[in-house]
Amino acid sequence: MSQHINVLDMAREQLAVAANILDLDKGLHDVLSKPMRQLIVHFPVVLDNGEVQVFEGYRVQHNAARGPTKGGIRYHPDVDVEETTALAMWMTWKCAVANIPYGGAKGSVKVDIKQLSKRELEKLTRRFVTEIGSMIGERSDIPAPDIGTNAQVMAWIMDTLSMQKGYTVPGVVTGKPIELGGSEGRTEATGRGVVVVMEEAAKVMNIDLGNAKVVVQGFGNVGATAAKLAEEAGATVVGISDAVGGIYNPKGLPVHDLFNRYSGRDGGIREYKDAEQVTNAQLLELPCDILIPAAVAAQITKDNADKIKARLIVEGGNGPCTPDADHILSDKSVLVVPDILANAGGVIVSYFEWVQDLQNFFWEENEVNHKLTKIMRHSFASVEASMMAHKTDMRTAALIIGVKRVADATIRRGIFP
Ligand code: GLU
Repeated sequence: MSQHINVLDMAREQLAVAANILDLDKGLHDVLSKPMRQLIVHFPVVLDNGEVQVFEGYRVQHNAARGPTKGGIRYHPDVDVEETTALAMWMTWKCAVANIPYGGAKGSVKVDIKQLSKRELEKLTRRFVTEIGSMIGERSDIPAPDIGTNAQVMAWIMDTLSMQKGYTVPGVVTGKPIELGGSEGRTEATGRGVVVVMEEAAKVMNIDLGNAKVVVQGFGNVGATAAKLAEEAGATVVGISDAVGGIYNPKGLPVHDLFNRYSGRDGGIREYKDAEQVTNAQLLELPCDILIPAAVAAQITKDNADKIKARLIVEGGNGPCTPDADHILSDKSVLVVPDILANAGGVIVSYFEWVQDLQNFFWEENEVNHKLTKIMRHSFASVEASMMAHKTDMRTAALIIGVKRVADATIRRGIFP
């Protein structure tokens, strides 16, 4: 589905709505609608069989008015420079909504990691980060995990950039393994934040979590953590999908068990037999109270928005709902907690990790989770207040806050020279 929808157009359309409400100056709107820097690289990797394969990758920095740019690196076969730019723009607003001192960036490599050995993945990572090395730095642009990358990939990035410097630079990347300067709680942070705002949004919608049915699209780091924590919060997870397909059981799915037994296996969660098999498309339309799309962009569009049964959507992934879908969902009184608020937990704990690295002083998990929960609740309350004040949907309300913070920083700094 995502191939037919231009995600950058989506991001620009969202910005235009907020810019209009904020009555932004045209020049400033222009600045914010474009990335400050885009790098496209092609680089060779010698595969295990001795053949050379050339890969295409990108690093895009959208805006640095509020601080160093921050955003993950994605390994996925469908990425392109436009999508990476949209994701960088969303990082800018996300950091601003959470009020952490970063701008937005994103990187990606067009690759199907399932086709690579671990050694090939390491070589690809080390070469890619060398190619984009001129943009990355602990004070300039700090990558992190995204779809297809994990703590091990971050460790290789940290090691490569440290080798080039001649000394260890842990603050150059976040989402690292704990023993290399990673933060307690970082791996679960995005999913944990999703469930914190889900609980807040459920109160707004009068949904009792103890009786709520939840469907989660995606069983990667974000989807799996959100599903586990939603279950721990008392909800019943009735549907889950992974890259292979989805499963549904109206009586509930054993999320922890599914994770321990089936995640990472070739057949995926569909190997679990006590459930009906559904396609990814059917999964989104299952009867439930809360839907957590935690996969790729443009999943809920004008073609299926009308068929969504959930009353609350919490965007675990980036860009799952298109602007057309937003209108339809808003008309149906479905509350959509937007990505730039709902999945900010990851970058918030990345910020904590960076601060810990710069200080060489590490926090306990309780402290990390407590501070994360506080920022998520506070951000939710600010966005809810903005929604009431502007009588608008929650995405626009969040954008109004994020875009205004970035615009104010730009005006305060002035335009150089
Ligand atoms: N890739 C994550 C996101 O989309 C995390 C970014 C970060 O921690 O810098 O928010």
